[in-house]
Amino acid sequence: MPAPRKFWKALKCPICGERAVFYVTMDAVKDAKQYPVPFEVIHEDHKFTIFLDSGLLISRIEEPKEVPPPAPKKKTKSKKTK
Ligand SMILES: [Zn+2]
Repeated sequence: MPAPRKFWKALKCPICGERAVFYVTMDAVKDAKQYPVPFEVIHEDHKFTIFLDSGLLISRIEEPKEVPPPAPKKKTKSKKTK
């Protein structure tokens, strides 16, 4: 069985705003009964959903429901202030 052909995609991650590079194969859409097909993209430690048409083109990108605030990476001691 030949290896599935990879179609590389790059887009701006709707969550972190960085460039997300990933690939899809025809497997993502070959069994679809309707289009576009949701496809989950994992980018670093988060993920978002895009929708692919029958030609593996990105039909649309799902807007993240919750945009996490850009948290600066620093150690914060959680103080309970009441
Ligand atoms: Zn991202």
